[in-house]
Amino acid sequence: MPDLNQSSLSEIVKLIKTKKISSLEVTNHFIKNIKKGKKLNSFITTCFDESLKKAKYFDTKGNIDGLLPGVPLAVKDLFCTKGIKTTAGSKILENFIPTYESTVTNNLWKEGAILLGKLNCDEFAMGSSNETSYFGKTINPIAKDLVPGGSSGGSASALAANFTPATIGTDTGGSIRQPASFTGTVGLKPTYGLCSRWGIVAFASSLDQAGPMTKNVEDCALLLEAMSGYDQNDSTSINKKKESYSKNLSTNIKGLKIGIPKEYRVENMPKEIENLWGKGIDILKKSGAKIVDITLPHTKYALPTYYIVAPAEASSNLARYDGVKYGYRSKKGKNLIEMYENTRGEGFGDEVKRRILIGTYVLSSGYYDAYYLKAQKVRKLIKNDFDKCFRNIDAILTPSTPSSAFKVGEKTNDPISMYLNDIFTVPVNLAGIPAISIPAGHDNQGRPLGLQVISKALEEQKILNIAFSMEKDISFKQSFKRWWE
Ligand code: GLN
Repeated sequence: MPDLNQSSLSEIVKLIKTKKISSLEVTNHFIKNIKKGKKLNSFITTCFDESLKKAKYFDTKGNIDGLLPGVPLAVKDLFCTKGIKTTAGSKILENFIPTYESTVTNNLWKEGAILLGKLNCDEFAMGSSNETSYFGKTINPIAKDLVPGGSSGGSASALAANFTPATIGTDTGGSIRQPASFTGTVGLKPTYGLCSRWGIVAFASSLDQAGPMTKNVEDCALLLEAMSGYDQNDSTSINKKKESYSKNLSTNIKGLKIGIPKEYRVENMPKEIENLWGKGIDILKKSGAKIVDITLPHTKYALPTYYIVAPAEASSNLARYDGVKYGYRSKKGKNLIEMYENTRGEGFGDEVKRRILIGTYVLSSGYYDAYYLKAQKVRKLIKNDFDKCFRNIDAILTPSTPSSAFKVGEKTNDPISMYLNDIFTVPVNLAGIPAISIPAGHDNQGRPLGLQVISKALEEQKILNIAFSMEKDISFKQSFKRWWE
C-alpha cells in the first residue's frame, strides 16, 4: 500500500481510479490519523460512521468518473452540511444542524468526495489565528506553540498534518492564503463569484469567497475545478462555463509580465521575507517571465477600508442570530428584548462583538457618510489601481504575509497587530480578484513562508500556471515530525 501521508490528492484520485486502493482503505487511513491528532484540535465535528458507510458504498456501487471519486475530505465548519452540525466556530450555532447543503460542498459530493468532518475556524471566520473559536484554539503542526493562522486554521492544520488529503476554506480578507502560508500549504482565493456563497455562513457578503487548500498546485487546480461553477441560488455567482484547470495546467510562463508593487515593501518586514520575495523574482526570471516594477498607490488604505466594510456587513449579517431562528437561546430575560440581548451577549465571543460594535457604528446615521460611504469610495480606488496595472502586466508577485506563524497568545490582546497580519491579502478581496499562496521557503526558525500571485478577475488558470512553474523550482519540503501522535 502506498504511503498516503506522502500522497497528494491527485495521486489518491489516480490510485482509487485504477483500483490500486479502495475508498475504504483511504478513508480508514485518514480516520486513523485524525484519531491520533486530538492535540491539534483541528476538528469540531467528525462523522466517521457516515464516512465509512459512504466509502463502502462507493467501493461497490460508486461512480469512478467523478473528479474526486471516493476521496474523503474534511471541510471548514462554515459550510452548511445537511444533517451535520455546522457551528461557524460559535457558541451561538453550537447545536445548529442545517436542513440544506452548501452548493460548494454539494459540488464536491457530486464529484464523488466523502465528508470526514468539520474543521475548526475563528468564530464566524473573524480572526487570523484560529484563537477566537468557541471550540478552542487550533495548533499548527509545525510546532506546539504556534498558531496555524486563520480563520481557516483548522483547515490548514488538518491538511498539513495529513488528516485530510485536501480541504476547502473561505477567504474574506486572507483566511485561506494566510493559514496556507503559515502551514506550508497551497491556498487559492478565487475571483469573487466563481464559487457559490450559497449555504456558507455569511461574514461579509461582498468579500466572502470559498476556495481550495491543498498540498500542491496540481491539487489546487483539481479542487477548484470541482468546487466552482455557476449557481442560481447566489445572485453574485458568475454565469460562465466551467473550466478544466487541472487539465490545462502548464509550467510555460515564458514572456508573462509579472509586476512587483513597491507599496508591499512595508516597514519592519523581516529580512527573510524580503529575501524570499527576491528568490521568487529570480525564479520567475529564470522561467522566462519579465519582471516589471509597478505601483498600487492606495494599498496603504486597504486595511482600514477592509476593517470598515467587513464589520459593517458582518453587523448586518449577524443580526439574524437572535435566539429565535437559529441555535442558542438564553434562558435569562423577562421579555423578548431581554431574551435577544442575553442571547447575543452570551452567544457571541469578544472578537465578534467588537466587529458588531464597529459595524453598527460605521453604519449609524450621522457616521455612515464619514466611514462606510468613504470606505466604499476608497475600495473603488484600490480596485482601480489593480485594473490600471493589469492593462500592462499579467500577474503580481508579493509575499503572502508580513510574518511567519506567530506564537499562541502573542497577539490576542492586541487586535490591531492581529489585523496587520492581513496587510498583503486584504487588497485582493476588496478588488474581487483571485490570488494564490504557495509555500516558498522557511525562516531561520524553520517556519514556512508563502509567496502570493495575484491576477485580474477570472484568470485563475494564469496564476495556477505561474504557481505550478514556481513550485517546481522552489521544491518546498515540509520539515516537521508528527509530534502530536
Ligand atoms: N483575518 C481577517 C479578519 O479577521 C480575514 C478573515 C477572513 O478572511 N475570513 O477579518
